[in-house]
Amino acid sequence: MLIVQKFGGTSVGDLERIQNVANRVSTTVKKGHDVVVVVSAMSGETNKLVGYAEHFSSNPSRVEMDMLLSSGERVTASLLSIALQEMGHKAVAMTGRKAGIVTDNHHTKARIEEIDPTTMQNAVKEGKIVVVAGFQGVNEDGDVTTLGRGGSDLSAVAIAGALQADLCEIYTDVSGIFTTDPRIEPKAKKLDKISYDEMLELASLGAKVLQNRSVELAKKLNVNLVTRTSFSDEEGTLITKEENIMEKPLVSGIALDRNQARISLLGVKDRPGIASDIFNKLAAAEVNVDMIIQNKAVDETTNIDFTVPVGDLHDAKAVVEEFVKNGEIQDESYNEDICKVSVVGVGMKSHAGVAAKAFSTMAQNNININMISTSEIKVSMVIDEKYAELAVRSLHDAYQLDK
Ligand code: ASP
Ligand code: MG
Repeated sequence: MLIVQKFGGTSVGDLERIQNVANRVSTTVKKGHDVVVVVSAMSGETNKLVGYAEHFSSNPSRVEMDMLLSSGERVTASLLSIALQEMGHKAVAMTGRKAGIVTDNHHTKARIEEIDPTTMQNAVKEGKIVVVAGFQGVNEDGDVTTLGRGGSDLSAVAIAGALQADLCEIYTDVSGIFTTDPRIEPKAKKLDKISYDEMLELASLGAKVLQNRSVELAKKLNVNLVTRTSFSDEEGTLITKEENIMEKPLVSGIALDRNQARISLLGVKDRPGIASDIFNKLAAAEVNVDMIIQNKAVDETTNIDFTVPVGDLHDAKAVVEEFVKNGEIQDESYNEDICKVSVVGVGMKSHAGVAAKAFSTMAQNNININMISTSEIKVSMVIDEKYAELAVRSLHDAYQLDK
């Protein structure tokens, strides 16, 4: 097999840990696999470099920032390659450029445009372990670019896609994806397998493990992703396409998003095009609207409620206030003390009653549901923040996710 192994900052956090990574890579190679390794900078290193730049400027040039930040990953890639050579392996460290990673021109948050894997492939053919500095590429002018914070996951997935690797393993300090946050429900179980779409819906559970952008890319490129820990031999969680999952559980997990706020618009003028005006302005202000409820109009006005991430609240308020000023909305109110709980599972596509069970679980616990939205594989409910943990635990129980 050809395996891409990506090691995050904590996994390469000091010299001893880099040696542990070398041992793990060596074991994989000795099992007969070809390995391409992608590394992050040592944990804390990128922040340290940012701090250095801020010593000189509050607004440093993004071109220089990319030169600077990309160096952290070069350090770990070369050290790992040296450690592997010392163990008797043939290994070669590569920058993003040498690995053939071409990006657009958006310095400090570039997008990968294409990868020419020839140099990596030739090295693999020569029996070498390729160690690539993650998080970086090069634009068409030859300037170094970086992919945005946390971007070495993206490097790994993109490289796995370009090499058509059998597996892309992402090593962190977390052992995989759980049925819910184990800090809320200690009975949470690690999932063996989960589909890309479920993983994207369960983002809050994977937040510490994987960027959503990487999961989206893995889905697009059809890369089998595994998240696992580098601190033990425990098996991780495979994230793959739905067709690869034989036994589809009804529900895979319960996600909690505390980072939501509710905006209520009262006395909204009931005319054709008003929703379009409001939500287009919100979109133009880059406010991410999630759930929307519009009530039946009475006396030519209606009420509209919607949710946004707390971080977008400020921009959303500015938009809403314009409509209040011109008289198309009478009043507005905001509530940050809410959260969104979601029940996620591909199995609900073919089974009725999943939503009903979620609602009765809330009812049994006397939790009022403020808003509801559903998709093919998800039921989401907005509830008061104070019930967040109770809701998560009782849903986890209701769908028997600890079994
Ligand atoms: N070192 C970069 C960061 O800290 C990239 C990464 O770790 O994925 O954001
Ligand atoms: Mg990281």
